[in-house]
Amino acid sequence: MAQIIVLGAGMVGAGAALALQAHGHDVTLVDRRGPGEETSFGNAGFIQAEAVEPYPIPRDLRTLVAYAAGRTNDIVYAPGALPKMAPGLWSYFRNSAPARHRQISAIYARLTQRATADHQPLIAASGQDALIRRTGYGQVYRDPRALERAARGAERLQRDYGTASEVLDGPALARAEPALKTAVPGALFWHDCWTCADPGGLTAAYAALLVRRGGRFLTGDALSLAQSGAGWSVATKAGRIDAERVVVALGPWAPDLLARFGYRVAMLWKRGYHGHFDSPAALNRPLIDDANGVVMTPTRFGLRLATGAALVDRKAPADPVQLRRGAAAVADLIELGPRVEEPQWFGHRPCLPDMLPLLGEAPRHKGLWLDFGHGHQGFTLGPTTGLLLAEAMEGRRDALLDALAPAARPSVLR
Ligand SMILES: Cc1cc2nc3c(=O)[nH]c(=O)nc-3n(C[C@H](O)[C@H](O)[C@H](O)COP(=O)(O)OP(=O)(O)OC[C@H]3O[C@@H](n4cnc5c(N)ncnc54)[C@H](O)[C@@H]3O)c2cc1C
Repeated sequence: MAQIIVLGAGMVGAGAALALQAHGHDVTLVDRRGPGEETSFGNAGFIQAEAVEPYPIPRDLRTLVAYAAGRTNDIVYAPGALPKMAPGLWSYFRNSAPARHRQISAIYARLTQRATADHQPLIAASGQDALIRRTGYGQVYRDPRALERAARGAERLQRDYGTASEVLDGPALARAEPALKTAVPGALFWHDCWTCADPGGLTAAYAALLVRRGGRFLTGDALSLAQSGAGWSVATKAGRIDAERVVVALGPWAPDLLARFGYRVAMLWKRGYHGHFDSPAALNRPLIDDANGVVMTPTRFGLRLATGAALVDRKAPADPVQLRRGAAAVADLIELGPRVEEPQWFGHRPCLPDMLPLLGEAPRHKGLWLDFGHGHQGFTLGPTTGLLLAEAMEGRRDALLDALAPAARPSVLR
């Protein structure tokens, strides 16, 4: 048994802490805020066993021109932010080449396909089953050609990975989702995805489970991390704590801490926004309006609209243009109702240019373990990468762990 500090109590840190505890370690989870109050709070709440391929950068000229011209709502960018992001975006673009993307997806699918199974015991033990819907989600298409293309893509995923989906024409969609006001050509339903009505609440419940099982949650600043003797120490409100090993699960903030130890992380931050609406529309499952890049997901706080990616400076103030456009666009599909008044939330998807989370021991520091960079699917993958991390600490080596390890990825961590 080792003493281990896990820095960051988002879904990734909570998942890692529980897995390490289950492997017999004495675990302390540390965050400067409460558990699950940052990116793991504001996401769309999808636990995506069907997300076998990570999002590539599109390579066809038409889509790229549409992005450049600002004609899409799923991606927007601030021109001033691009020069700083250019090396990371270029590397991401190269990794999006079809052959390379296939190799990456073969690894990614091994993570996502087990994600619901890895969440299940934690959902049950934390008593949060009521938060989870197992009715999948629907991707709604307003253009019949787009639906046809999506259906062909779904057939390929079925062939390559066994991913189940179902194409619904307009009338079948209207029967499945009577709250829709407008007839559309149809939708693609992904049945293997689970969704959560309170992603931050589930993360907090996982952290509470850790404590119930004998672990600790402490408030502290990860940036106080220092080497001490053969191990590591962190300053917390309860005083300095020491451990043999430390896990960096700081999501979007991981590069800030690692810079202090001489590491450069090639992270791209894809900002996303959400807003809640007091909607009378009772959806049976979350829906995505494909043409407008907006997710509609029923939550405890109201109908949550969540947006795609904004490539902007990490410190730029909120500018929820995608949310405004998305809300205007879906208003003809469902009765949105009034916007719930609340401070404008946004968060950053911590994306690495090779689209895989980073998992393993830091190359130049013994006992410094990394578990971050989960991009679009960190809420999905926290428990899974946690379990893999626990196995990696026990010395397990295989093709999957090698592919995620820092040593194999000098372009991601230097
Ligand atoms: C709009 C949007 C929608 C999304 N939808 C989905 C989805 O449906 N499904 C899905 O799987 N993923 C989704 N994602 C992605 C997902 O939210 C992230 O990948 C995931 O939350 C990352 O988890 P994390 O634990 O790595 O980071 P976080 O949840 O951000 O946790 C990091 C923690 O580190 C702490 N921290 C930071 N700095 C310090 C410090 N100095 N000291 C102490 N603590 C510190 C923070 O307080 C925070 O609690 C979405 C993201 C966005 C933005």
